[in-house]
Amino acid sequence: MKVKSIVVAVLLILGVTACEKKEIDPPSIKFSNEMEQSLIKVNLDIQEESSTLKAAGVDNWWESINESLVEHGIQLEKMETLGAEQHQGITIIFKDMGNKKLSSDFVPNDSRNGTGIDVPYIIDGTELGTTSGMTEVDTYNAIVNAMNTWDNNKCSSGLDIPLWGLIPFDVGFVQYLEGFGGYAGYLAGGITHGGILPAVFFDAIGGPGGGTSILGVTFTFIWTSDGVPTDINNDGKNDVAFREVYINDGFNWQDAPDDVLFNGIYDFETVVLHEVGHGLSQGHFGKAFITKNGMLHFAPAALMNSAYSVARREITQTDLAGHCSIWADWPNN
Ligand SMILES: [Zn+2]
Repeated sequence: MKVKSIVVAVLLILGVTACEKKEIDPPSIKFSNEMEQSLIKVNLDIQEESSTLKAAGVDNWWESINESLVEHGIQLEKMETLGAEQHQGITIIFKDMGNKKLSSDFVPNDSRNGTGIDVPYIIDGTELGTTSGMTEVDTYNAIVNAMNTWDNNKCSSGLDIPLWGLIPFDVGFVQYLEGFGGYAGYLAGGITHGGILPAVFFDAIGGPGGGTSILGVTFTFIWTSDGVPTDINNDGKNDVAFREVYINDGFNWQDAPDDVLFNGIYDFETVVLHEVGHGLSQGHFGKAFITKNGMLHFAPAALMNSAYSVARREITQTDLAGHCSIWADWPNN
């Protein structure tokens, strides 16, 4: 209940701000000391190292980063991108143990997290709003709506996804590693909405063309011991340390719940909803095929298809089946 009142208070503040100047006033929403302590700081100096490696065109850049992260007990497991229109999104596994343990999930009451049986989220309050005209308030509301849509579905009643804070400073661990601001630390056990970032960030993570083909991305980091993924609850999955979501500012984002096929407009909330599907451990599904007009379609059509087609602000039956298989027994798994 306490969390709900905080959310209501935040929305009220935003509502007032929206009427007056259409901007969020970060100082009006405090990030408490308690919450700041929730971010695990990583004392490492690999940002410089990473820029050097990338400048040198090192292909296995992330492998090098992961080597540096071994001593910190985390590894980047994977990156899942969502494709724009004719571009199919991809999943890149960075930590492949070769034992089919490619899926990963949060662990309830994981002492490494301090989040109990919740999967909380935070929002970077400094990188909201889009060049295409959505205000900070618009994008904030879309993120909260998307989180609530996942939170309120019927099969995962044991899972709560509370908002822990609209952060008044730049957060995002991958962003930090890539040299695009961010923060040398992370919210363990939760999902960080790291911001709406310029297209060049997506070139950096997805290679040439990333900025024009990737709508959004979710990164999964897992807990490791001596570089080896842990599975402390023996569910056959790697233990998720944290996840981060980023959205590409290089597209025509709109608040467009009725958006139709392939018109160059993207419904912001739909894409956040998709990314949070990854945030809650779902992968892509649906078979992709190209129609005569050269456009990419999927069967079945679902939120978790690897490319955007139309606005979807509800979770389809197939998406829900995937979600329920992961979360129905939470926190008893
Ligand atoms: Zn995706």
